[in-house]
Amino acid sequence: MTEYKGLGEVTGKRVLVRSDLNVPLDGTTITDDGRIRASVPTIKALADAGARVVVTAHLGRPKGEPDPAYSLAPVASRLAELLDRPVAFATDTVGASAQETVAALGDGEVALLENVRFNAGETSKDDAERGAFADQLAALADAFVSDGFGVVHRKQASVYDVAQRLPHAMGGLVATEIDVLRRLTVEPKRPYVVVLGGSKVSDKLGVIDNLLGKADKLLIGGGMVFTFLKAEGHEVGQSLLEEDQLDTVRSYQQRAQELGVEIVLPTDIVVADSFGDEASARVVPATDIPADTLGLDIGPESGKAFAAALADARTVFWNGPMGVFEQAAFAEGTHAVAEALTRVEGLSVVGGGDSAAAVRALGFDEDAFGHISTGGGASLEYLEGKELPGITVLEQGDS
Ligand code: ADP
Ligand code: MG
Repeated sequence: MTEYKGLGEVTGKRVLVRSDLNVPLDGTTITDDGRIRASVPTIKALADAGARVVVTAHLGRPKGEPDPAYSLAPVASRLAELLDRPVAFATDTVGASAQETVAALGDGEVALLENVRFNAGETSKDDAERGAFADQLAALADAFVSDGFGVVHRKQASVYDVAQRLPHAMGGLVATEIDVLRRLTVEPKRPYVVVLGGSKVSDKLGVIDNLLGKADKLLIGGGMVFTFLKAEGHEVGQSLLEEDQLDTVRSYQQRAQELGVEIVLPTDIVVADSFGDEASARVVPATDIPADTLGLDIGPESGKAFAAALADARTVFWNGPMGVFEQAAFAEGTHAVAEALTRVEGLSVVGGGDSAAAVRALGFDEDAFGHISTGGGASLEYLEGKELPGITVLEQGDS
């Protein structure tokens, strides 16, 4: 292959690829390389086609200036291992190092630019500032491939503005992700069960609104549980709680009832005396959480009930761990749900960075799931029915 999607001939061309390489790091050690592995096929396809591949990506949330703690250098090494070919690393985003690195690339060679968020223009809300940075990025390439699914819901220079400045195409990873999301929204096979958890409660409540019209059952776990329990009038001790969302949650419960959608809450909870205190972990009824404790996982009875609710599902979307799975004492609920998903006959989708990391950390084979999405926020916004700027821009012509 020497052509790539809508780009035509790419041999000898400099192709800027926006990948999502935002992996969890412990110092300089990558603790889960899932996103790097997911990015490899597109980079490899372009390199095999003879393109000069310039990869741009972000890591974490630096403050718009260089910060060694967020350097992509460790990612460059891992990417080279996975690609089984050298990856030249530029120590800046668009400056002298980036320009020299790109100029030195031969056909089929790959470079990675330093963390794109080291430049304030990347995430600026000011169109002119973002555009000026996008001009510099675009000057490094002849074409653009958008493959960072985790960021397509962001109107950022390397996602959105650069696509307006170069001939562009959707990368294979983004195309796959969008295809799976379509299957979740357009005539999903029933029963369709959605499992929600995690800690970004207010971010995720919005998706419930849209899912109420689509899913047959909604299983609620993780930190979101306590806002639901409180809305029903139960005390939740020191657990994660979004007081200002209580009315929203009540309105969801009301609508679910009207629509005949079942919202399933856990009946038992693993609590502890303080966050992460495994020694004090114990199971209590969900309606009887002691005031001086906090809930860190769904209990074993709930794990079984959730698995049973998933047993006959034909479509499942799961976002957000059921508990603080990073610690063994609070990982059972997430394990139970993950296991139930592996048995689903139909489409099972795991979305969300931590959820994807959880299934791998708990030792599940990725192939046991229909699809493991690399982007939590992006998939949620799609399911909420919001427009994804990084996708919309690809559907428009370049200038
Ligand atoms: P994702 O990345 O899959 O979208 P989130 O980022 O929303 O998920 O949440 C993941 C985090 O939620 C995990 O680090 C986990 O420890 C935490 N979590 C799960 N349940 C609870 C809980 N009951 N209280 C506090 N944190 C929780
Ligand atoms: Mg997360």
